[in-house]
Amino acid sequence: MKNKNILISGAGIAGVSLAFWLKKFGFQPTIIEISPKLREGGYAIDFMGAGYDVAEKMGILADLEKVDMDISKLAFVDENNREHGSMNYRKIKRLMNNRALTLLRSDLAKIMYKALDKDIEIIFGDTIHKIAQDDEKVSVTFRSGSSRSFDLLIGADGLHSKVRNLVFGNEAQFEKYYGYYTSSYTIENFPDEGKVFSMYNIPNKQAAIYSDGKGKTMAFLIFTSPEKLSYDYHDVDQQKKILKDQFTNAGWKCPELLSKMDSTTDFYFDSISQIKMVKWYKDRIALIGDACCCPSLLSGKGSTLAMVGAYMLAGELKQAKGDYKVAFEQYEHSLQPFIAKKQKAAQRFAKSFVPKTNFGIWLRNIAFKAMSIPLVSKLLLNPFKDRGLKLKEY
Ligand SMILES: Cc1cc2nc3c(=O)[nH]c(=O)nc-3n(C[C@H](O)[C@H](O)[C@H](O)COP(=O)(O)OP(=O)(O)OC[C@H]3O[C@@H](n4cnc5c(N)ncnc54)[C@H](O)[C@@H]3O)c2cc1C
Repeated sequence: MKNKNILISGAGIAGVSLAFWLKKFGFQPTIIEISPKLREGGYAIDFMGAGYDVAEKMGILADLEKVDMDISKLAFVDENNREHGSMNYRKIKRLMNNRALTLLRSDLAKIMYKALDKDIEIIFGDTIHKIAQDDEKVSVTFRSGSSRSFDLLIGADGLHSKVRNLVFGNEAQFEKYYGYYTSSYTIENFPDEGKVFSMYNIPNKQAAIYSDGKGKTMAFLIFTSPEKLSYDYHDVDQQKKILKDQFTNAGWKCPELLSKMDSTTDFYFDSISQIKMVKWYKDRIALIGDACCCPSLLSGKGSTLAMVGAYMLAGELKQAKGDYKVAFEQYEHSLQPFIAKKQKAAQRFAKSFVPKTNFGIWLRNIAFKAMSIPLVSKLLLNPFKDRGLKLKEY
């Protein structure tokens, strides 16, 4: 096996699953993560399709089942919390032959992290500052000042990837913004919602809450913005202010969700965007997950596709005995058409994602009622089955 020493930038879903598979296939991964510890937080993920299959191969399904949120229904509510339509979640699970879970992103991240081999080196609280590569190696300088060399470097550092910026160019040329911002965070001392995911809309805004089953409530907010907003990705106070301006007068439980936002420890805020790149690698450096092919929240598949990409990249490296030229090409060639389809499907959904008028909200509620017709729900679930992708055994 050649090129065994591999640096991964980012300990998100993509980075941690890649480290898992690389180690299993005989490589020596090192992870560098900018945050001082594993990042928690994030929304509830519909976990099914190819990502579910990868989790099964990782041997973590039993642990994931233990933290399944077992949501019973998605309820559309009005200002007074009266229900105007719903979707039966348990029925969806049955239609997926029970190979579906609803997981908090943070539970998925923690379980994958726990599954990592203990001798994998993980550097927290640092980031790559400079990158140079030649025929032999990739040399990196960290923000902390130290320099090291690796055989390969993989950028798994998300939508605003630093590796992508340093090696492939600035974000704007790869980002397709879809006109929405989203935020999620955990709050305490809020009435328990039981197993219901309650969603409230006014034109151009959507707020949802659900309980984690352990005494905490998750808030999940989306608003439209035709133009991209200008703010610092690392300035959480600035992001909270944007959210307050958007939702203070939105009604329902929004004022209370906002008033508890300041004490949250896992605030997440970002645009709903996709990343589209023609090439996912340059010599000894490749990208995975959101860094190269973010499908966005609109696809409902960001985390599961990141796990699939990690499995395939590690598998191709194993199959090519570490020959990165063969492996990177094969990884891109096998996954790119499938991701393109997922991105296109998400794109079609973009316009109607958050209704922009009261009529649109009414129409959306009617459409979800149609989901109770078995044929309709079967058709709508088809894209989640990922039939267009055959996972190889490596
Ligand atoms: C805490 C958190 C909450 C999230 N919540 C939501 C949500 O509510 N809705 C939604 O649509 N998506 C959310 N996401 C994004 C979602 O998890 C991803 O779309 C999906 O899981 C694909 O994962 P990824 O590993 O490619 O990227 P990400 O999950 O974004 O992971 C990237 C990792 O790289 C790290 N990183 C970033 N920059 C650097 C750097 N310069 N150097 C080193 N490390 C770096 C990040 O801290 C993170 O751990 C969230 C991501 C995180 C990290």
